[in-house]
Amino acid sequence: MKKEITIIGAGLVGSLLGIYLAKRGHKVSIYERRGDMRNEAVVAGRSINLALSDRGLKALQEVGIADDVMKIAIPMPGRFIHNRDGSNAFQPYGKQGQAINSVSRGELNKKLMDLAEQHGIQIFFNHKCETIDWKKNEIIFENTQIQQQTNHQLQSRYLSGPNSKQIVTLNFQLLFGTDGAYSAARLQHMVNHTKFDYQQFYIDCGYKELAIPAGQNGTFLLDKNALHIWPRKDYMLIALANLDGSFTGTLFFPFEGETSFTKLDTDEKVLEFFTKEFPDVVQMVPDLVQQFSQNPTASLVTVKCFPWIRGDKFALIGDAAHAIVPFFGQGMNCGFEDCSVLNQLIDKHGDDWTLLLQEFEEQRKPDADAIADLAVNNFIEMREKVADPLFLLQKKIEARLHEKHPEQWIPAYSQVTFSPHIRYSEALQRGQRQEAIMQEIMKIENISSKWDSEEIEKLILSKANS
Ligand code: FAD
Repeated sequence: MKKEITIIGAGLVGSLLGIYLAKRGHKVSIYERRGDMRNEAVVAGRSINLALSDRGLKALQEVGIADDVMKIAIPMPGRFIHNRDGSNAFQPYGKQGQAINSVSRGELNKKLMDLAEQHGIQIFFNHKCETIDWKKNEIIFENTQIQQQTNHQLQSRYLSGPNSKQIVTLNFQLLFGTDGAYSAARLQHMVNHTKFDYQQFYIDCGYKELAIPAGQNGTFLLDKNALHIWPRKDYMLIALANLDGSFTGTLFFPFEGETSFTKLDTDEKVLEFFTKEFPDVVQMVPDLVQQFSQNPTASLVTVKCFPWIRGDKFALIGDAAHAIVPFFGQGMNCGFEDCSVLNQLIDKHGDDWTLLLQEFEEQRKPDADAIADLAVNNFIEMREKVADPLFLLQKKIEARLHEKHPEQWIPAYSQVTFSPHIRYSEALQRGQRQEAIMQEIMKIENISSKWDSEEIEKLILSKANS
């Protein structure tokens, strides 16, 4: 039976979910708090580009839009490390031919909205979800920009006075909350639930975007086919290429402490710090100090919650269900995988939405928890270990094993990034086991001279298969 489906949030996941459901013949409407980003300029310091990897691509392929999206993506087969002493190194992420892809969040979102509309979905902008009445199956939106939108489902009443706003009340049949990390749908679900588990934790680092401009005639000032990292132990700068020759740089940096946002409180201190820590970046970004003082500093949160669903009426999906820190580049990929898993469950259970939402939650919750933990752990790897020779040797040993015995050894990064058939929860477990083995191997005397010997290879595989 075809349903009338309401989605709150036209972000990446809401738009893709809409496409999946519209393709199945459901009537889908999306309500989005912001105005239509396709008609608005990007706010400086809020551009964000994302690494799209195999899980996300698989989900896009399933609805036939991966090729379209890849037109606005730049492949990154590895990371390019910029050390403090000026030396640098390229480290491949996986095997030959494997890459993650740099894509602008805004451009991707616009493309997904276009595709959603092409599938007959109506998107209502400037509609901020305020409350949900679970007994009446009713959502109340605040229309933040009163506009002429006609929809037979909408009944609106105007409040008068200096802060006039339009309150829009809407009945729903099946509702999805895809309104991101600070989800209003989740809050409404939580406050009307007798036993809702909720955990939220911030890491002690925030982030600030710093745009690296294109060179003359739109040339790239760095290798565009790499994710650039300037690892500095307690903090790091990263940069991903944009199609116009620029890079979006992001500084992940402590809020407080000896070296922190709080301490860099004058233009002189900012310039002195960057000149010492990232001299090559100072050369490339003439307005660095200005950007540093003007661009916002944002925080990074992990959200874990349960349950995600209400009978056959409601589910949280994407960041609304599981916000994670960006250090494994998986937040969006995980949200896209949610859509693909839900789709498989529709194949399995047909119209039985109670059963399929239940199974969706059972299947995805452990995976979302696992990638949340993996993402926090990867911060340490990115900011600290990628410049450590012993860590690099370990990665070399693992890459060699993977090349020679792809069935028996898949490095943890590849399990998450290039192996969508492996669940995140399985990747976490297998990764922990492999890490314990590698820790023993790295203690072997003279490992750096015999790392590629048959003896070491056999030893690792015997431990892995025991
Ligand atoms: P969002 O993209 O947040 O979309 C939610 C939508 O809901 C928005 O349009 C919002 O306006 C709307 N909304 C919010 N409240 C309401 C309301 N009350 N009523 C109506 N609408 C509402 N992921 C990756 O996979 N790879 C990466 O490399 C990566 N890098 C990242 C780097 C940074 C710095 C950050 C911050 C995140 C990164 N992510 C990455 C994560 C990724 O951005 C998110 O996981 C993804 O955007 C989640 O999509 P979503 O649709 O669930 O939520």
